[in-house]
Amino acid sequence: MKQLDSLYARLPEWLQDLAITAQGALYYRQRYSGAFQEEYALLKATEMSSPLQLELLQVARLKRMLAHAAATVPFYQACLSKAKCDSLRAGDWSAFFDLPVTEKSTLRANHLAFLSGGKPNSRWIGWNTSGTTGSPMQLFYEPDAVARQYAYVERYREQAGVSRFLRRAKFTGKMIAPGDHPSRFWRYDWANKALLLSSVHLNSETIPRYLEALERFEPAYLTGYPSAIYLLAQFALRRGRKTLRIPAILTSAETLLADQRDTIEAAFGGKVFDQYGQTEMQSFWFQCRYRRMHTHPLFGVTEIVTPDGRPARPGEVGDVLLTGLVNRAMPLIRYRVGDRASWADSDRCPCGRSMPMIESIEGRREDYLFSRQRGWVGRMDPALKGVEGVVECQFVQEIPEAVRVLCVPSPDFRLEDQLHLESNLRSRLGSEMRIDFQIVDQIPRGANGKFRAVISRLPHETQTQNDLEEVL
Ligand SMILES: [Zn+2]
Repeated sequence: MKQLDSLYARLPEWLQDLAITAQGALYYRQRYSGAFQEEYALLKATEMSSPLQLELLQVARLKRMLAHAAATVPFYQACLSKAKCDSLRAGDWSAFFDLPVTEKSTLRANHLAFLSGGKPNSRWIGWNTSGTTGSPMQLFYEPDAVARQYAYVERYREQAGVSRFLRRAKFTGKMIAPGDHPSRFWRYDWANKALLLSSVHLNSETIPRYLEALERFEPAYLTGYPSAIYLLAQFALRRGRKTLRIPAILTSAETLLADQRDTIEAAFGGKVFDQYGQTEMQSFWFQCRYRRMHTHPLFGVTEIVTPDGRPARPGEVGDVLLTGLVNRAMPLIRYRVGDRASWADSDRCPCGRSMPMIESIEGRREDYLFSRQRGWVGRMDPALKGVEGVVECQFVQEIPEAVRVLCVPSPDFRLEDQLHLESNLRSRLGSEMRIDFQIVDQIPRGANGKFRAVISRLPHETQTQNDLEEVL
């Protein structure tokens, strides 16, 4: 992979476009063939089904997944009984709620025990996580699971008024524009009609050029992290010239803040549709045109539980537990994904879908850093994307002006890795933030052995002044 990356880096930019297009064509085949069509047809046919119809379909899928896990996945072979799985039925979930919760730390400690058959299969697609809360880990998907996932993505696009056949611009954390001084910070994936924008190079000096590239490309939609699109939107608004119109903006992977959404919609004259999922492929939540976040019951079972394990009431914030229903390579059952959320009070949405609705996604409350320029910034995992040579990082904040980064280097750590991480951090926390690096051998764990990506020791006043509740 490293060799391929360095070969790519030496190509002229127009050949890099071709390389990306060739890879895009492979992705296109992986995503839109195989199980895609069947799942897509099912989703289209059941989009407006009643809650009971959806529950029946969901329970049938869940029973199949539980039986598969009990039969083939070492971790669940030990704790799932066939009789329990068989007793599950629509309207009576008690057998399911009795199953133990799968903790992220258990998965990280022995992720091979969660693979069907106990080891990777050569047909599967591997994916390295960026290691939000610990060392990176490899996840595996069946090819059909990827294709099925894209059926959900395509339906989500379609209800936003766009599709895979339209031109799109996409922010990416991948190193698509390598080198110290690339002449442009974007590449073209003609196989997917996509303009790929490097989120790594996005800063106040380069933003005007990104906007010009978008104006020339005229995308029907723009996708990416809300924080990157928000930067662009703020600049576009300040510039005042409203020549860039983007009808739909599809955000994901970070908690979308209300202010970000309003700014993005005002800047581009389009509508923002947020989506929530995770690399573990356990859930697909999507925002409809009425800005309600629906959880798709055929992709996964979503639970929200209180600290004592009871199902949370509407409006009550709790831990999200997920049970994926599409990827048989690595089934996770009642998986505590680490995010907190609450159910909406109403079960009716004007869009007509009866899929359960989320009121708010809180992210991890303790994982917020504060920046005078940006306010509260959550989810630091994107800052680690694409950064090599780092085993794990912890962000410690004691004063609003500075963040201390404890960094455990791998043997091939280079100064560029640190600079890369620093530039990622500045793009999230603003140029004025002081960032102090500290190379350490290990990062101390908390009282219960838990790794914390962010430790905030800011006084309480800072938090109330800036009204964390409101931005969430
Ligand atoms: Zn809706």
